[in-house]
Amino acid sequence: MKDGMTIAVSKGRILKEALPLLARAGVQPLDDPGATRKLVFETNQAGIRLIVIRATDVPTYVLNGGADLGIAGKDVLLECVSDNLYEPLDLNIGRCRLMLAGPKDAPAQSGRLRIATKYVATTRNYFAAKGQQVEIIKLYGSMELAPVLGLSDLIVDLVDTGNTLRENGLAPLANIADISSRLIVNKASMKMKRARIKPFLSRLAAAIRE
Ligand code: AMP
Repeated sequence: MKDGMTIAVSKGRILKEALPLLARAGVQPLDDPGATRKLVFETNQAGIRLIVIRATDVPTYVLNGGADLGIAGKDVLLECVSDNLYEPLDLNIGRCRLMLAGPKDAPAQSGRLRIATKYVATTRNYFAAKGQQVEIIKLYGSMELAPVLGLSDLIVDLVDTGNTLRENGLAPLANIADISSRLIVNKASMKMKRARIKPFLSRLAAAIRE
C-alpha cells in the first residue's frame, strides 16, 4: 500500500495472541477484529492499518506489496520461501510443533509411504533430506482423519497439546520443526518506508521481551 504502513495478521489463534503484543508495541485497532466481519482496521496510530486474513494468504499479501508487514506462522513461511521477504522477528507466539504422526502400533510399512498433509513442500523437503521417496496427499484440514480412513499411512500436521492426535488414535513419530509466529517484511517496503518501519520493529522487539 502506498501511504502509511499495513500489517497483515493471520486470523484465528495467531490474531488472538498478536493483538496483546501489538498493543504493547503501541498499536491498537479502533474496532475489535473478533467482533466484526471487517477486514481492514484503522488503529490508534495514524497511518498504521491492520488487515486480518487467512494465514496462508499473509505471505502472498506481503510479497506482492498488498501489505508491508505480516504476522504468520513459521509453518506457513516454510511452505513459501522467498528472497523478497525479511523475517526479522520471532514473536514467540503461536508456539507448536510440525510433526510426523501415524496410527499407534501400526505394523512396519513396506513400499512407498503415503503422507497426508497441508504442508507439501516442507514434507517433501523433510523426506528428501532422508533420501526417502514418499507419496504426498494434499489436504486442507482435518489431516488426522486420513490414516483412520486409509487415505494415507501417516500425516504431517501441527501439534500443540497432542490431544487431537490422541483422540484419533495417532501418535507422534518425529518433530519436523518447532513453530512460532514471525514478523515478515516486504523488502521494497523496508527500503521505502524505513523511517516508519524501523521504529515499529524496535517497539515490537521490546514488547516481545516484556
Ligand atoms: P492439539 O490437539 O492441541 O495438539 O492441536 C492440534 C490441532 O490444532 C491441529 O488440528 C492443528 O492443526 C491445530 N494447531 C495446533 N497448534 C496450532 C497453531 N499454533 N496454529 C494453528 N493451528 C494449530
